[in-house]
Amino acid sequence: MALEEYKRKRQFEHTPEPPPKVEKESRHRFVVQRHRASHLHYDFRLEMEGVLKSWAVPKGPSLDPADKRLAMQVEDHPVSYFDFEGIIPEGNYGAGTVMVWDTGTWEPLGDVAEMLKKGDLKFQLNGKKLKGGFVLAKMRSRRPGSKGTEWLLIKHRDEAVVEGYDIDKYDYSVLTKRSLKQIAGDEGSAEWESNRKASPGKTKKDWLADSVAKHDRAEAGERKTKAASGVKAAARHGAQAAVAR
Ligand code: MN
Repeated sequence: MALEEYKRKRQFEHTPEPPPKVEKESRHRFVVQRHRASHLHYDFRLEMEGVLKSWAVPKGPSLDPADKRLAMQVEDHPVSYFDFEGIIPEGNYGAGTVMVWDTGTWEPLGDVAEMLKKGDLKFQLNGKKLKGGFVLAKMRSRRPGSKGTEWLLIKHRDEAVVEGYDIDKYDYSVLTKRSLKQIAGDEGSAEWESNRKASPGKTKKDWLADSVAKHDRAEAGERKTKAASGVKAAARHGAQAAVAR
């Protein structure tokens, strides 16, 4: 049954996320959510068949065709997830901060069911940040232990290409203009209500301070990882240059 896995992973009295509901009609909308859970990632979701087909993209989408982004297919989400932004409280599945990073419409370049089955989904995006042609290509090499859910999200070469695209420069919500840090510390967030039940001893102020501190720690860790991978890439290029010489 559709959304069964979505439902199984969540307790709706403890999370502000929307309940599982399959819509009768589908429009061709898409949303990308920036989600700092145990690891920072982006959730790429396409509206079809009354749900949001979803992929978790660790490094996020890119407008540079040289970036082939790993995209792990995850459980379908309800269409009402489209504008979910806020904090999933500690102790829940995917606990952390969620931002609506981009929204818009998508246009399939062929028969959707056929392209999905083939593992070669070609489409055009018309979002606020993401534009132009993309492909989601299912990876065929099955590593031992692989669940067969690995795809690559790749930008097509067209007028929307941005070479050297740096996603970290676009840390703002297309809904509310807030950064992830601002969302993490937002007093107006409805999720406090569901969290209050989960941790009765804490005041709202303490809870928000914890939320921001957690955000800062995570961001510092991510900066380090990014810097380290930059050093590694530079070393690789250096080695290649040495071999070329
Ligand atoms: Mn996620």
